Amino acid sequence: MIRQVSIILIFCSCVIAIGQQPYKQTMKLMGSRFDITVVAKDSIEANLHILLAVNEIKRIEKLISSWDTNSETSLINKNAGVSPIQVSQELYQLIERSIKISELTDGAFDISYASIDKIWQFNGSMQRLPNVKEIKQSVAKVGYKNIVLNKAESTIFLKQKGMKIGFGAIGKGYAADKAKELLISKGVVSGIVNASGDMNTWGRQPNGEEWKVAITNPLNKNKAFALLPITNGAVVTSGNYEKFVLFDGKKYSHIIDPRTGYPSKGIISVTVFAPKSELADALATSVFVMGKEVGLNRINQLPNIECVIVDDLGKVSTSKNIKINTL
Ligand code: ADP
Ligand code: MG
Repeated sequence: MIRQVSIILIFCSCVIAIGQQPYKQTMKLMGSRFDITVVAKDSIEANLHILLAVNEIKRIEKLISSWDTNSETSLINKNAGVSPIQVSQELYQLIERSIKISELTDGAFDISYASIDKIWQFNGSMQRLPNVKEIKQSVAKVGYKNIVLNKAESTIFLKQKGMKIGFGAIGKGYAADKAKELLISKGVVSGIVNASGDMNTWGRQPNGEEWKVAITNPLNKNKAFALLPITNGAVVTSGNYEKFVLFDGKKYSHIIDPRTGYPSKGIISVTVFAPKSELADALATSVFVMGKEVGLNRINQLPNIECVIVDDLGKVSTSKNIKINTL
């Protein structure tokens, strides 16, 4: 939702390759806006391919949804503190990778953040700030170390009653990766899956140029501040300029530090570049929580990962291997 405005896809110039054209469709999936672009010889071929991608994303939504009471994820949550639940290899591995990201970020990223959700609401329903005690209580059930994995049995067990996992900060990135993978396997030479700003590209535009993405200036949404070429990789922007609550003129963002229960502060936008959108998605959220210094430091230690941070004073900082030409 946030990201659909934060990244605008730019088709740079006119299409010159004969027969091949980009076709784009926009739809609502996983509660968010998705834009899928495929390069194809005609609209019939393009529609067929886009439909395949849509079905793949719906399949993933069924697996990871916390709303669908019959999803594997809901079953795990319902059985928190009760019993381990056998899950598909796909979900098992997604949880395993999520925990690795928690380790990499010292718990800034944590899929068990989900039990906090009830005290912070970003739909206009919050009447007052939660008090210190409520906030402390809200994180009592958070802790990726209490997610017990059993590889041999393919089971997941949440140790404490009331614990919950949720894929809000990684699910769309994962879905974009899987849709891209499927389209490549079907012979689609070039395209973009944009899951509300979790952007995954491959190939080039039919005119031979790289796909280019513009990062919106979070302080002025109508103005892009950088235009960046992406050939085969992902770029994800996470911002707190849309989903937040205001109390006494202070903004409280939707990204919560799972270690304290407080919304993250100091950063208004994080863009992460990575080979896969799953990791880029998770890291964009993590950098928010870690803050500018720790976040940049961590990103600088990871190969093939870069980031651009805009802080709440409008200052732009980048990781060491990225140069952005401000527009
Ligand atoms: P969005 O998809 O809203 O653009 P993000 O990818 O940053 O933004 O994900 C934010 C969502 O992730 C929140 O709405 C919440 O569901 C979940 N979340 C919030 N904080 C964390 C965290 N520290 N670790 C994991 N998930 C989180
Ligand atoms: Mg994220």
